[in-house]
Amino acid sequence: MKAFYAEEQKRHDPKAFLSSGAQQPNPEKPERVERLLAGAKAAGLTIERPRNHGLGPIAAVHTPEYLDFLEHIFGRWQRIEGASAEVIPNIHPITRTGSYPASAVGQAGYHMADTACPISGETWQSALWSAWSAVEAAEAVMAGAPSAYALCRPPGHHAFVDVAGGFCFINNSAVAAQTLRKQAARVAILDVDLHHGNGTQGIFYERPDVLTVSLHADPVRFYPFFWGHADERGEGPGLGYNLNLPLPRKSGDSVFLEALATAFQRIRAFSPDALVVALGLDAFEGDPFGGLSVTTPGFSLIGEAIAGFGLPTVIVQEGGYLCEELGDNLTAFLTGFGGGKKR
Ligand SMILES: [Zn+2]
Repeated sequence: MKAFYAEEQKRHDPKAFLSSGAQQPNPEKPERVERLLAGAKAAGLTIERPRNHGLGPIAAVHTPEYLDFLEHIFGRWQRIEGASAEVIPNIHPITRTGSYPASAVGQAGYHMADTACPISGETWQSALWSAWSAVEAAEAVMAGAPSAYALCRPPGHHAFVDVAGGFCFINNSAVAAQTLRKQAARVAILDVDLHHGNGTQGIFYERPDVLTVSLHADPVRFYPFFWGHADERGEGPGLGYNLNLPLPRKSGDSVFLEALATAFQRIRAFSPDALVVALGLDAFEGDPFGGLSVTTPGFSLIGEAIAGFGLPTVIVQEGGYLCEELGDNLTAFLTGFGGGKKR
């Protein structure tokens, strides 16, 4: 299987982060890339650099206003006297019904959901290349590869149409799915990250052509709090095309695999032409977020089960934070996926 990654993706190095009101080091560190690259190589994948795909495939899921904001906000922020080294919002609209603000501070609040996605001078380039890795993987699959892996970093699944959040700026999984839609009439996105894929859900919420399914720690007391509940099923023509499977905190392999079987049932009924796996590895028992308790062999079983679909599959890296086993968990998933192929 081919893997896609560009060096530029490592430049983004966020510092600020608040956890329950307390300042913490930002966990989305560039070192994640080294661990994930090692993990992909250990599974026998070859790493290739994606091409520059321009804004087209990204603008297919994000607004021009938002992309302009991401590209230029850091320079504008720096011109504010006394401003912080990273763009961090300090005011948010209660609803999006007011006017679009002209100022950098106002726009930061409008386009950033939380304080976990600070923007520095390197963020835009890293986010672009991360998205292009997803596009390249989707194009490889469209050209006939049974599957491809995009080592996306920064991650993407918390990014909405025009809002960044939770370490995410451009929604790489959504970009991959939308790219696949050029060939595939129906695409399913299966999100196995510890956190609910709220941005991905939001982007496709009113569409019946992209099924979004997410397994995650129950957001009743966990990020992203406002989304990821079982009663969010889609809207309008998209009603019934979103499935959330919130799991009790600290659930292990058996509960996760059981929920995965429920997800598979829905995906099978949808009968997609292609699959995007939003692969977070932070459901791991030793991940610093500590939300779920999936084991390293568990990731192998998850990979094997997903491969059982035999669908053209784009695997997009989402979360998974620094711990000894981060690389091993990716190796386990990819090895299980390779070993579980039914073709
Ligand atoms: Zn996550």
